[in-house]
Amino acid sequence: MTFQDLKLIPSILKALRDENYTEPTSIQAKSIPLVLNKEDVLGSAQTGTGKTAAFAIPILQHLVNNQQNQNGKRRISTLVITPTRELAIQIGESFSAYGKYTTITNTVIFGGVNQRSQTNVLRQGVDVLIATPGRLIDLMNQGYISLQDVKYFVLDEADRMLDMGFIHDIKKVLAKLPKQRQSLFFSATMPKNILTLSQQILINPKKVSV
Ligand code: AMP
Repeated sequence: MTFQDLKLIPSILKALRDENYTEPTSIQAKSIPLVLNKEDVLGSAQTGTGKTAAFAIPILQHLVNNQQNQNGKRRISTLVITPTRELAIQIGESFSAYGKYTTITNTVIFGGVNQRSQTNVLRQGVDVLIATPGRLIDLMNQGYISLQDVKYFVLDEADRMLDMGFIHDIKKVLAKLPKQRQSLFFSATMPKNILTLSQQILINPKKVSV
């Protein structure tokens, strides 16, 4: 199996060559076709399996394909929430790397730092927002972030997020997301509370595990 077999667009294939990725990992080979096919996905995979590229690559491809009839200020069309600052930064770097030959933009927001530089970028408009839950809610409450144009939603490391006590923040975010969207849900483990949460987010999900 190669990335070409996954029907990726040339601009993304070229970026993957720059990364020296020769073949998709297992989670990528399973998830990318489902995401490109607009399915919701329930993915059971840990960090280190290539999970980030499994969602970032097909979402970038959707965004490039949707771009034709877009003009004016960029609106957040993809939201990724993840539990920690480190993960958020890594995910942002992945979108930048795989999207380097596209015009899709991303930004990362997290707590514990002054919000000014984050709100400055948001004001300019961005396609992909990667966020930790607390800062996301904070900036939504202050009116810096609207989720009304989100078409792709990723909940990353769901089990860790619940362990860290983010369930109420996640529920608040869900309440603001458009019903019409594609959602991807990743967790290393799938205990009952995680499955229950996934059922509140996903519609007829395809299950993927590695
Ligand atoms: P992740 O599980 O998303 O944290 O990714 C773990 C590491 O695997 C990251 O350093 C990625 O750059 C790398 N990686 C992801 N996909 C591939 C691939 N298909 N081939 C080689 N390395 C990869």
